[in-house]
This record gives sequence, structure tokens and C-alpha cells, in this order.
Amino acid sequence: MRNGLSKDLISRILGGVPKYTIAQLEKKFPPRNLPDGAMITRFAPSPTGYFHTGNLYPVIVNRKLAQQSGGIFILRIEDTDTKREVAGSVDILVASMDKFGIKIDEGMVADNKGVGEYGPYTQSYRKDIYHSVAAELLADGRAYPCFLSPEEMEEIRKQQSSDGFSTGIYGGWARDRDLTESEIIVRMNAGGVPSIRLYSTGDKAQKIFCKDVARGSIAFPQNDEDIVIVKSNDGLPTYHFAHLCDDHFMRTTHVVRAEEWLPSLPLHIQLFDMMGWIPPSYTHHTTIDILDSDTGNRRKLSKRKDRVAAIANLWADGWSPEPVLEYVFNLIVSGYEEAKMKNSALTIWDFQVNIKKLPLSGALFDMKKLEWWAKEFIATLSVDELIRRVTNWAKEYSPEWANRIDGQGDYLRSILDIERDDPKRIRKDFITWKQTLEETSYFWDDLFGSAIGNQQSAINKNILSEFLNSFDIKDSKDLWWNKIVEIAARLGIKNGDAAMCLRVTLTGRTNTPDLYSIIQVMGEHRVKERVKSGIGI
Ligand code: GLU
Repeated sequence: MRNGLSKDLISRILGGVPKYTIAQLEKKFPPRNLPDGAMITRFAPSPTGYFHTGNLYPVIVNRKLAQQSGGIFILRIEDTDTKREVAGSVDILVASMDKFGIKIDEGMVADNKGVGEYGPYTQSYRKDIYHSVAAELLADGRAYPCFLSPEEMEEIRKQQSSDGFSTGIYGGWARDRDLTESEIIVRMNAGGVPSIRLYSTGDKAQKIFCKDVARGSIAFPQNDEDIVIVKSNDGLPTYHFAHLCDDHFMRTTHVVRAEEWLPSLPLHIQLFDMMGWIPPSYTHHTTIDILDSDTGNRRKLSKRKDRVAAIANLWADGWSPEPVLEYVFNLIVSGYEEAKMKNSALTIWDFQVNIKKLPLSGALFDMKKLEWWAKEFIATLSVDELIRRVTNWAKEYSPEWANRIDGQGDYLRSILDIERDDPKRIRKDFITWKQTLEETSYFWDDLFGSAIGNQQSAINKNILSEFLNSFDIKDSKDLWWNKIVEIAARLGIKNGDAAMCLRVTLTGRTNTPDLYSIIQVMGEHRVKERVKSGIGI
């Protein structure tokens, strides 16, 4: 601790008289009246205008912890780094979270709207709170104004590097930590605008034990850096100081955040201890990794390299939110897939998350596995729901598909209804809405084109001619098949080869659902036209 500053000087430094005392803030944001064990959690992204798939990790875990304990899940916007801010970010985030069925109990619900008694929930609107806390730290010498310019700090850094010291503003390097009140006034009169730094009493040679719920107790060197708590350029707090004030006054009980913050944990514990506040319980989660297709090496999901890293791309590509959510949930919470296989009605909302058991090595994103979850999910949808989702996707993301299916509801229904009637044998080849339409594109004449044309072999032309001669759309499935068997026998080929010739002629594919159903859906005219074009007539 150093000498505290006078009230007048503090107001001058902060650009105004602090609005509250800490005691008033404690009253304004009292401990919440919730049952024992209720967890207050939060997701605290920066407003970058972008929802990263990796962010589903903290979103899911924090939402689940609050949900399963009868607590509260807060969305707080951390916009103290104004350079990174993108307008409309909250709307984008909230819309995506909504699609996933992830509800916010408290906090920002739209770009300019927060709900709850513990706000504001956007950091740039909480300056009064940070300044009020900083004022008390300045008053009792636990913080001080620092006039080091970026150039001076760079000089210090260079000096430290060349002398073999660790870099940073600490101890003897912290030039301004013991400036007197009158020295501070002289600098301010000369136009100096200070940042506010913590007067660190930590000793790097000493250890501090910090608890991470998933990792256990970890020994770190104490923090001896006089970190900036309030920046000079905009008077906004740094992440560390904002986190301290916000999680204390929002009464957060559990912080689940990315592993990159683990090295800051000793500082955060130091800050809570200094204030005499009880820190929340901390869990640092791993990243979601992916195998790089070029190098084969494991790396973080990357916004630049991986299309799936942006939730917005997942929507544009026609992924359904449910399987994405379940897949990511299964990546981070072991045992879910097994439980789901036993009980298909299970959702992530019925399955308990145990933060002590979060994986300690990065989860590996596997596209094939995501596809599996999507196929399983789509197989559970009724045809009405399938049509609704496919149509909504097309309207939003594909004018071309939207035009094509517009007014063709009955045809689309019969296409999508193929192999959906027997619950034991539902087709499982639909993955995304886009792919569902592409997978069935041969039903649309403009997309089918005349790909096969008369490139057919002589034997195939014979099969097709025989088929055309005996074809009757009203035939039962058995009768239809018997006719194929007869054709095959007459031409001395296998039944399967005869059917394959017809399949390829009608669909351009070697692999399709039930051919009889396809023929029924295509209708007499279309089938005949395609067969004729296969024969070359
Ligand atoms: N704004 C920080 C981030 O986006 C929040 C970390 C935390 O949850 O405390 O990484």
C-alpha cells in the first residue's frame, strides 16, 4: 500500500465525483435470494459480430449449470476493447442462441436491451461502477495514477529484455507507483492523463494456490505486476478489473471460461482477496480443436480456415441447430451419446453436466460425427416438419431453391416423404437442408437435365425399351418388380442389373432410396420421358 490520494484529486483523475461508494454498490446489488446451490453463471463475449462455434462450449456449460441448479444465466457484453466492437453483435448472438434453444435469464437480450436488476450488462455502460471501486482503491493506496507513455513503456520493455528481467511494470520499474499528491498534480497540470494501476503487493518468489474445479489446485507465482485497471485513453476498465467488479456485483458464483484465462487466475484471485470479496469458483475449459486437413496436425478451430467455425455459416449451409448442439455437448460432456442411444427422447436439458469432469485436453471436432448426429436427428422429424425446415432455409438462404419449390408443395412433400413411413426403416441420408434438396435434386427436371441421354449401352437400351413397353404406373410394387424380373430373365442378366439401369436412367445415381417409391413420386409422364431419353427416342 502507498499513501492514499485526496477526494479532490481522485475526482480529477476520474473526470468526476464517483457516483457510489462500495458500500452503496453492495446494497444496490445484494446477494441474490436463491435456494442453496443455485449457480449464477455468465457468458461474457466481446461484441465482435461473430458467434464462433468454439463459443458454444462456455455457452452450453454455463447455461446448463444455471439450468440444472435452478440458478441464473447471464449474457454480459465485454466491450471495453472498443477497437473490436461490431454493431449488431448482440442481436446476432441472441438470435443464434435462440435457435439453439439457449435462453438468457438475465443480461443483454438485444443490442440495446438488457433485462435484470444487476445491470447494466454491457461493460461500457458500467463506468460509474468501475470508477466508484477505483476511487476507493486510489483513496487507500491500493491503486495509483500512472503517467507512463507507450513509448516509455516500450523503453522499459527493451531495457528489461536486454538486462534479462521479466517484462512488465512492477517493483522498481513501476516509475510512478510512489508519486506524491503534488507530483501527480504537477503532471496533470502539464496535460498528463493517467491510467490507473494496481499497487501490487504480490511477490513473484512466493506461491499462490488457485483452484480450478476441473484441474484441482494449481500453484502459481504471485502476481507482482502493477497491472492497469482503468485505461487512460477512454477511462474504461481492463478485462481484469471489469471481471472483478462485474462478477462480484452480478453475484456470479461460477465462472466457466476459456483456458487462455488460466494464467490470469492468480491475478484475479489476488484482486478478489485485496477487496475482501469471495471469488467465484473457476473452471477453465479447453478449446475445440480440429485436425488440419493439410498438415494432419491438431489445431484450434479457426475462423479463417474452417467454415464450421462460424455459426452463421452453419445456418447458411443448412445445418439444423439441434444436432449441432447435441454434437458439441457430447464433445464436452462424456456419456451423452451412450445415454441418447438408450433413450432417443433425451435432450441435453435432461442430462447433468459435471464441471469436475470436463475434458482437460481439447475436444476434437469431427465433421463425420456431426453429420451422424444430423442424420439421426432429421430421421426423427415428421414430413411436415421436414418440409417446414427445408422451406424456411430456402427462403432465407437460397432464392434459387425457394423459387423452384414455390407452389410445388405437394411434389416436395411426396419427394421428402419417401422412406419415412416405417419407423424402423427411416432413410438416414439427409444431413443439412441444403444437402436434403441437393440429395433429391433429380426429381426436378431442370436440375436432372438429360445427363444420361443416349449414352446408354445397347443392352441398357433393350432393358429400357422392355420396361417402357410393360410400364404401368398403377402397378403394385410386387407386379412392378415381377416385370423387372421377367425383363432380366428374357435378356439373360441379373435382376439387380436391370433395376440399376432403370435407377440410373431415372435419377442419374447408383444409390437412391426405394426405386418403386421414386417412380410413384415422379409420375407416369416424367418416368416415360426419362426412359425414352435413355433409349434415345
Ligand atoms: N470477454 C472474455 C472473452 O471473450 C470473457 C472471458 C470470461 O468469461 O471471463 O474471452
